[in-house]
Order: sequence, then C-alpha cells, then structure tokens
Amino acid sequence: MRTLRLIAAVMSVCVACLFTGGVLLGEDKPPEADSASPKDAASWTTDPVSQMVFFAVLEGLYSDGVTNDIIDFIIPQKPATKKPDYTASFIYTCPLCEPTLEAMRVYGARPVFLGFRPPAPNTFGPGVDEHTREQLASPARGEREEALQRLLEKWVRRRMDTMRLTDAERAEWQGKFEAGRKAGLERLKEFQEKGSFGGTYTEWKRCAACDGIVAACGGGR
Ligand SMILES: [Zn+2]
Repeated sequence: MRTLRLIAAVMSVCVACLFTGGVLLGEDKPPEADSASPKDAASWTTDPVSQMVFFAVLEGLYSDGVTNDIIDFIIPQKPATKKPDYTASFIYTCPLCEPTLEAMRVYGARPVFLGFRPPAPNTFGPGVDEHTREQLASPARGEREEALQRLLEKWVRRRMDTMRLTDAERAEWQGKFEAGRKAGLERLKEFQEKGSFGGTYTEWKRCAACDGIVAACGGGR
C-alpha cells in the first residue's frame, strides 16, 4: 500500500512536470505560430551552417557596438500588443533567419561588463553609421531591407575571412547558404499562400537577411 501511494505521488509530480513543460513551451512560441507548422526540436540549433550564422552575427553586433535602438528597428514592437515582432525582418523557421534573429535577441539582452563605474560598457565598437540608422528607421521596407542585408553581408564576410578559406571551401559555404535561403523562401511562399502570421509576409519579395548572408561568400567587396 505504501509503495502504491509512493508510485501515485511520483506519477502526479511527473504529470505536473509535463503540464508545466507544455505551458512553458507554449509561451516560447511566437504568438501566431499556431497558424504555421511548429519547429522540430532539432531545427536550426543542430545545424552547423545556422550556428556559423549565429556566431557571425553575434560577433558582428559586438564588434560594431550596435546599440539596442538599432535592434529595435529590426525587431520592432507590434503596436497592438507591444510584443516583439519577430516576423518584421525574418522568416519563421528559415535556417538563416532564425540564427540571425536569435543572435540579435541574445545580444539585445547582454549584461554590462563588470567592474566599471556607470555607465558601464556592454559592447565594443562605435555603433552603426548614420546612413544605416536612417535606413533601418525608414518606413520604406526597401530601405530597411537594404541596410539589414548590408550589415549581414559585412558580418558573415568578416567571419569567413577569419576562417581563411580556400576558394573551393568558400564556394562550398556559398552552396550551403544558398540551400538555406532556398528553404527559407519555400517557407515564405507557404506562409504567403496561407496568410500565416496575420498576413505579415504578404509584401515580401525576398529575404534581405538571407541575401546578405549569401552575398558574403562572393569575392571582391
Ligand atoms: Zn531568411
């Protein structure tokens, strides 16, 4: 009898854990994700190409000393809910957009460095130039896309340069990035056809983040 009671107690704890886990997972999803397919557990986080993008973007943000108001232009608040609009600049489940978005979220929440008198620094570089800031703040989608593409191209190119790749290796990376962009654009088409995420993707003609990452492999700039 005592054993039975113990088993019942353990089981009720497990059920509670499962429930809590489910609720937490639910909160982690973008609010409208129900209208799209959910991510696999092993989505971009286990993909070396996505990880490369994540670190390139994170490093770029720190090296350039990007300020959080710039992140806010790229991931603005939704006017109605005041929650971050992750679909403003990125395609949900795109293998290149997701790591870019996550690097920006991580960077946006960075702590200050220890041991300094206020205001303590929390990054390194001087921030983005005025032209880039104006473009990202622009109401015109084309302007914002151009600036985002340019930033990503610079950051991914910078990281690739440190890898000292041969021409063949660089071409291989380009092929992987192109495959990532293709997968992202397929998702975009699907969302556009279904009107997912409240139709936020209707006006998208391309993915600026993906285009910047693919362009980073080209020579000469
Ligand atoms: Zn993308």
